[in-house]
Amino acid sequence: MHDVIIIGAGPAGLSAAFWCDELGLDTLVLEQAAEIGGQLHRVYNPVNNYLGLKARNGRELLERFSAGVDEAGFDLWTGAEIESINLRAKRISLRSGEQLQSIAIIITTGVRPRTLNIPGEREFAGKGMIESATRDRDLFAGEDVCVVGGGDAAVENALLLAEVCPTVTVVHRGKKLRARREFVERLQPNHAVTVFTESVLTRIIGENRVEAVEIMRKDGLKPFQLAVRGVLIRIGVEPNSELFRDQLEQDEKGYITVGGEQETSVPMVFAAGDVSNPTAPTISGATGAGATAAKVIAARLNAQRSNG
Ligand SMILES: Cc1cc2nc3c(=O)[nH]c(=O)nc-3n(C[C@H](O)[C@H](O)[C@H](O)COP(=O)(O)OP(=O)(O)OC[C@H]3O[C@@H](n4cnc5c(N)ncnc54)[C@H](O)[C@@H]3O)c2cc1C
Repeated sequence: MHDVIIIGAGPAGLSAAFWCDELGLDTLVLEQAAEIGGQLHRVYNPVNNYLGLKARNGRELLERFSAGVDEAGFDLWTGAEIESINLRAKRISLRSGEQLQSIAIIITTGVRPRTLNIPGEREFAGKGMIESATRDRDLFAGEDVCVVGGGDAAVENALLLAEVCPTVTVVHRGKKLRARREFVERLQPNHAVTVFTESVLTRIIGENRVEAVEIMRKDGLKPFQLAVRGVLIRIGVEPNSELFRDQLEQDEKGYITVGGEQETSVPMVFAAGDVSNPTAPTISGATGAGATAAKVIAARLNAQRSNG
């Protein structure tokens, strides 16, 4: 029996773990990936907005965040796949066969990039699918590329690619780009960039790598093909919360609903970080919320233990 089981070892889960340890709680962290760090692995831009720390990218920040993990008093299992969970009973079964039980649970499972689920998207991973303009733009210099999405991330990536690519075609399903005005204003005079609004990507085509995309306009005209060598998809994120569906309150998009103390609709089950923060997900928000959950749990357990 553990005091706390934390599910997910991104910034929120790591912060909660260090706090639980400091507060004397017997803590186990379950991370399904082979490595801890969550989205920090995909942050290729400098991080300048975490108070007191500047990092060239997410991995550098992760090195700072994970300093001391090995010496800390909490257990951390990577590659831990949950087969089933009963939140009310606080019981977890892992695929590997272990049965776990705790007094409290903190869910810090974060979010994942939304996908288009169209032919070619998975098959061409690493063969023309661009993960990040910051990371990959030199690889695609001189090539025609396509960017899907209309928010800040899509337009910012399109602008970066337009510095080195002869053409950048932005495909956005809405009527107007949603990105902040400053980005859209920089896009308009850029001769390399063409924007197709009210349009969707229906296929990514190629023999052994990306060679073209198929675009469908919403005006009902026939789909057309465009020759490109790279495709970058930035259409938002979705919460990793399916595992808990039907057991606690979530909003219509699947984000877990929490109160001011990060507690969910199930007593002694807490959620922190992006999985419970649809409006302002940040690293500092995630670490703060993880700390709050840990402190509330410690206070409750201390009160229970001193009463009896
Ligand atoms: C490109 C990019 C740039 C960004 N730049 C910034 C920035 O400059 N500043 C900033 O503040 N924020 C930035 N962010 C956002 C920031 O990375 C997130 O807000 C932060 O990582 C959220 O932390 P988290 O712990 O809530 O979730 P995550 O980082 O998503 O971590 C969740 C963890 O839970 C694990 N997990 C998921 N499901 C399970 C399961 N069933 N069982 C066990 N483990 C599970 C995942 O594998 C992952 O390790 C950026 C994000 C991206 C993608």
